[in-house]
Amino acid sequence: MVRAKAIQRALSGYDLKNLSIGTLGSHSALNIFKGAKEEGFRTVCVCKKGDRILYERFPLADEIIQVESFTEILDDDVQEKLRERNTVLVPHGSFTAYLSVEQMVNSLNVPTFGNCELLSWEASREKQNEWLLRAGLKLPKVFEKPEDIDRLVIAKLPGARGGKGYFLADSQKSFHRKAREMVSRGLIDERDASQIHLQEYVLGVNAYPHYFSSIMNSEVEFFGVDKRYETTVDAIGRIPASEQLEIGLSSTYTVIGNIPITLRESILPEMIRMGDNVMKTSREIAPPGIVGPFCLETAITDNMEIYTFEISARIVAGTNVGIGTSPYPYLKYGENMYMGRRIALEIREAVRQGRTKEILT
Ligand code: AMP
Ligand code: AMP
Repeated sequence: MVRAKAIQRALSGYDLKNLSIGTLGSHSALNIFKGAKEEGFRTVCVCKKGDRILYERFPLADEIIQVESFTEILDDDVQEKLRERNTVLVPHGSFTAYLSVEQMVNSLNVPTFGNCELLSWEASREKQNEWLLRAGLKLPKVFEKPEDIDRLVIAKLPGARGGKGYFLADSQKSFHRKAREMVSRGLIDERDASQIHLQEYVLGVNAYPHYFSSIMNSEVEFFGVDKRYETTVDAIGRIPASEQLEIGLSSTYTVIGNIPITLRESILPEMIRMGDNVMKTSREIAPPGIVGPFCLETAITDNMEIYTFEISARIVAGTNVGIGTSPYPYLKYGENMYMGRRIALEIREAVRQGRTKEILT
């Protein structure tokens, strides 16, 4: 528990009345900064030179710490600057994409919103599956090796890469052919090819529900739903099947953006139960369980079965569709509640109640 000690030491030097909220400049940073400002916090953006234009054009970051690469957030001087400003970091997809779990846990000694112990559960597909199965969710079948493929599967690479380099296969033969093709197109490398995870392809529509697990209110709040806009899979339908066959098209899943969804109301009770169960299980595997935002990735079939194929125990970029206006938080809070703001509200409430230790790790 070296990290826990370092964080408690940092926090004991913090002026809790003057916290800043900080994050890496990408993914859902605008969402996080806007919410922080609306709840009265100062904001700090750790940003790459080429991206400054974004965080200057939308004046939401009170301060920009410029870096060459995101891993510089691990440098002592950057961490020192963050702590001097009483910064609470809010992790998002770029933390998991550009830093390893070990770096986050062992080398990033800045108080962070969330439960760091769940990072390793999120990073491993095996542990994710164990977590989701224990929560009673329905998961697509997993195939241990290409020889076992007996139906359409989606071949996934390790780590959070927003679907880049994924492909479909329906037999051992097509798997090997497509893996070679992906390597030659430069979408994956040889090392990736040996670490591919094979999952049953669920024929259904995607719906990605977002939740907020509030430690202050002991409740999992339902925050919204999105689907992703992915290239090339969302582009292929624009070409007639005959041309698809002619040019030997195969689908890829690089995420470009997100589209908001409101779900059929009769699906919501199950979605809410799923969020509650995921939270309940997380409390067993890493107390106090999920702190703050999480998201499930699901596909819903024509007989309304909900298959879950992934969990993110942090803010997802899909919540950006709700910035300023999101239907489900509106039902609970009235106008203008969204994930970035909900995070800031939880931090503010924890400060007010003297309970920051429960939400910062
Ligand atoms: P980026 O800094 O844009 O490369 O994003 C960091 C990580 O978050 C990458 O793994 C991205 O694929 C993922 N990501 C970024 N934006 C989105 C999005 N809108 N939906 C899903 N994943 C995303
Ligand atoms: P992921 O990296 O798990 O977020 O997956 C990226 C994209 O691949 C998703 O947004 C879906 O479009 C697609 N996908 C992933 N897993 C499945 C599955 N088991 N069945 C159908 N589509 C999937």
